[in-house]
Amino acid sequence: MNPAEQAIRQRFQQYYLDPKRQMDPPPSPAEREYGFLLFNGKFMVRHRSFKDPGSLLTAVRDLVPLHVYFSTAYYREPTAPMDEKGWTGADLVFDIDADHLNTPCKPDHDNWKCKACGTIGNGGAPKLCPKCKNDRMEEQTWLCDRCLQEAKEETAKLLEMLYTDLGIDHEATRLFFSGHRGYHVHVYSKQTSQLGEEERREIADYLLAQGLDPQLHELEETSVGGTRVAEGPLMGQPGWRGRIVAGIYDLLGSEIDQIGLTSTQVSALRSWDREDLLRKPFWSSVKGIGMSTWKTLVSKAVEKKSARIDTVVTTDIHRLIRMPGTLNGHTGLLAMKVPEERLDEFDPFTEPLAFQGEMKVKVTESPGFRLGEERFGPYQDETVLLPSAAAMLLLCKRRAQPIA
Ligand SMILES: [Zn+2]
Ligand SMILES: [Zn+2]
Repeated sequence: MNPAEQAIRQRFQQYYLDPKRQMDPPPSPAEREYGFLLFNGKFMVRHRSFKDPGSLLTAVRDLVPLHVYFSTAYYREPTAPMDEKGWTGADLVFDIDADHLNTPCKPDHDNWKCKACGTIGNGGAPKLCPKCKNDRMEEQTWLCDRCLQEAKEETAKLLEMLYTDLGIDHEATRLFFSGHRGYHVHVYSKQTSQLGEEERREIADYLLAQGLDPQLHELEETSVGGTRVAEGPLMGQPGWRGRIVAGIYDLLGSEIDQIGLTSTQVSALRSWDREDLLRKPFWSSVKGIGMSTWKTLVSKAVEKKSARIDTVVTTDIHRLIRMPGTLNGHTGLLAMKVPEERLDEFDPFTEPLAFQGEMKVKVTESPGFRLGEERFGPYQDETVLLPSAAAMLLLCKRRAQPIA
């Protein structure tokens, strides 16, 4: 362990040893597999099981892991090897992470380096290195207000679709802040626990509007008295039909000039009364806007209204997922439950702070950031005395070293 890891581990240990600490495991805790990522050599201890929250807390206090996970799946024998566990079901889970969002601030706080040729760049890492086409990237990410605000908005869209379109049981749904760059939604319900990978993929595709064909959602060209007219779905129709119209309505009121249309098309759409969308099924009343432009508008509307979940997490029925109430080793922030009615006001830079006191660190380099009411940085090669939560964030992000 290097000095930074030692300092992090010591603080994590103090945190978990606090007599007030309690674990709040998911339903049916004894049927789950638990996993711990430890400090030494990033070794994953898994296939563990615990009968009750108390024994789980004891293990966390003993091991002091960097990350704590539990399985979304239920097993007859959680400690058995993978193929002998006896899968009996799995929660339906969703992960929304700024990693998958195209926020404009990323070039200011994220960067990447190709492990093969050393090419570097700002922003989110490309899938392949533009120079040598290698796919192994080293990424340095940061968490910022803007990114987390967008993640929150995606989460709100997700929840709305789960309840309104898919009829997911409200009572069985829990929302969590991940302690890093996003939110998790867990559905603990018999209604969905038996779904296999394919069914979960269909749900993910629906939420992402993957492969949505506007013509199957009532966007069509018909002939009225010899004239070809475009006709679309109506506002308020269930599912993606109404959502498409709502999305176009929003676009017409805001960034319509930023979606690649010609200036003539933009002014035609601007001069049209968008309230018409709310009244008529006929979209043809806009002069100079034909079917292909409506299709462009539909695809932009769909992009706006879909919930950008990570499909891999939702479709994996053996997934280990972060345990709420534990520290996220990427940040030192607490992964925590967020009551759904409080999502809007929840501040991921205030409520999940877990450390008191102050720590002195030498910061190599860091973007500016906010914790609570206080702003910090940007820093470049400087030694600073910081509130522990800020120092821990920098240590966990490998942007700083502890000063004894
Ligand atoms: Zn490269
Ligand atoms: Zn950002």
